[in-house]
Amino acid sequence: MHFEHLNLELKRYFGFTSFKGQQENIIKNLLKGKNSFVIMPTGAGKSMCYQLPSLILDGTSIVVSPLIALMKNQVDFLRGNSLKDSVAHVINSTLTKAEITKVEKDVLTNETKILFVAPESLVKPSLINFLKSVKISFLAIDEAHCISEWGHDFRPDYRNIRKVIDKTNHNIPIIALTATATPKVQEDILKNLKIKDAKIFKASFNRPNLYYEVRKKSKDVIVEIVKFIKKNKSKSGIIYCLSRKKVEELTKTLKVNDIKAVPYHAGLDAKTRSLNQDLFLKEDCDIVVATIAFGMGIDKPDVRFVIHHDIPKSLESYYQETGRAGRDGGEGHCLAFYSYKDVEKLENFLSKKTVSERELGTALLNEMVSYAETPISRRKFILHYFGEAFNEEDDFKKMDDNLRFPKNKIDASEALFLLLNVIKKTNEYLKTREIVKIMVGVNNSIINNHRLQNSSFFGKGSNYDKSSWNSLISQASISGYIKKNIENYGVLKLNEKGIQYLKKQTPFSIYLDKKKG
Ligand code: ADP
Ligand code: MG
Repeated sequence: MHFEHLNLELKRYFGFTSFKGQQENIIKNLLKGKNSFVIMPTGAGKSMCYQLPSLILDGTSIVVSPLIALMKNQVDFLRGNSLKDSVAHVINSTLTKAEITKVEKDVLTNETKILFVAPESLVKPSLINFLKSVKISFLAIDEAHCISEWGHDFRPDYRNIRKVIDKTNHNIPIIALTATATPKVQEDILKNLKIKDAKIFKASFNRPNLYYEVRKKSKDVIVEIVKFIKKNKSKSGIIYCLSRKKVEELTKTLKVNDIKAVPYHAGLDAKTRSLNQDLFLKEDCDIVVATIAFGMGIDKPDVRFVIHHDIPKSLESYYQETGRAGRDGGEGHCLAFYSYKDVEKLENFLSKKTVSERELGTALLNEMVSYAETPISRRKFILHYFGEAFNEEDDFKKMDDNLRFPKNKIDASEALFLLLNVIKKTNEYLKTREIVKIMVGVNNSIINNHRLQNSSFFGKGSNYDKSSWNSLISQASISGYIKKNIENYGVLKLNEKGIQYLKKQTPFSIYLDKKKG
């Protein structure tokens, strides 16, 4: 293998002069025939980790990807860098029989080095049969978090990939890649793919150039958005809204205010969507107002701000969407508007789903709410969520609203003691919502069922309001006294540190809004 000339190969095939981040080590690991698990933020250059090996190795690689648009982007890119279109192909549900036959011919004659397959197509017996006769170099699973129900984009067919490959009788290395993986999701991926031996390549999720800000959403939110855009004249920005209707409304309002904006959502026809996307990419317009349908695979380096008119349904989505700002390393302002009404709207959507989907969706949403309400460094909160320790607040003082305008710090040693005690006395099986209710002395059916309203501690924390208790729980979790058992839908448990605290109280203070507490 040409290990020592990888740089030259990169230049020869793609014209890039050097590798980004850990690309080279990842590629080497794959070329050695070993399994790899790559966890790196969006824009880090994950695709190259399988694109280059596909071209170098004998045979055809199989790349599973969840979205036709993502596959198409890459096929165009690979074909653009090659003399032959046959170098890369896609197999998904949109192909005609004749097109599939052509793809199969190119694969069998070794012209195709990389074959993108939608997970739904991969499980088809005809394809499995075909793959038996192909020399496959390796299997890549892009957006691997789709494997886990605990991710934000679960796709049932993703869970069958390993089984399918086993059926083709190939023993090939696997590389899984994702930009969003909480510790629980990571574990699921390794287990489902049976690659517990995989070498893990994890890059920090810290995006140092992004500024995070959350504002309470008032009825003047549109005015605030217009003001913000006018202040950032002729800069590029994305505004995310929950509904198509809101996208249309807001676009109109912006236009009335002489702001160049286009809408983007799944209700528009394909032609309009791609026209609007092009307008935004080519800078003929400054703003795209969009639902979550916009953004996957879009690589515009100079997006200067991402505004969330409504908060998203999970912190993963939020991280992905804000991640589209400042890709070039320049300024990137992430501004989210938050109101409890919006949370209730999202909860309402969830109430129509199955019990397990609802519970999971609620757990993800609650994390998002905690983020919106947290008084601590937003960067720290996000990184903690992704399982990353972050202790460099001092270097990022100017980079989020909470660090820039700190809230009041108050002593909460007694409150923490009470909290830990209640968690312990209720046998560590309650979620934040119930614990908070017990603290302030509000009943609900769960509390009722356990007759907790008669306990000595019911309502003992009523000197704080609900939102203060929420905040305290979140800060106690980040400081390591308690943990949310995510597998168990967010049930609160004591950590060793919390158990020790109950034996011996030490100073503990939290940040609270001035008016509360
Ligand atoms: P990810 O999948 O991690 O979000 P992509 O694979 O889409 O990232 O890559 C993001 C961008 O970085 C793409 O435009 C890609 O062409 C570019 N890129 C990848 N590797 C390199 C490299 N070694 N040098 C320069 N640009 C690169
Ligand atoms: Mg990618």
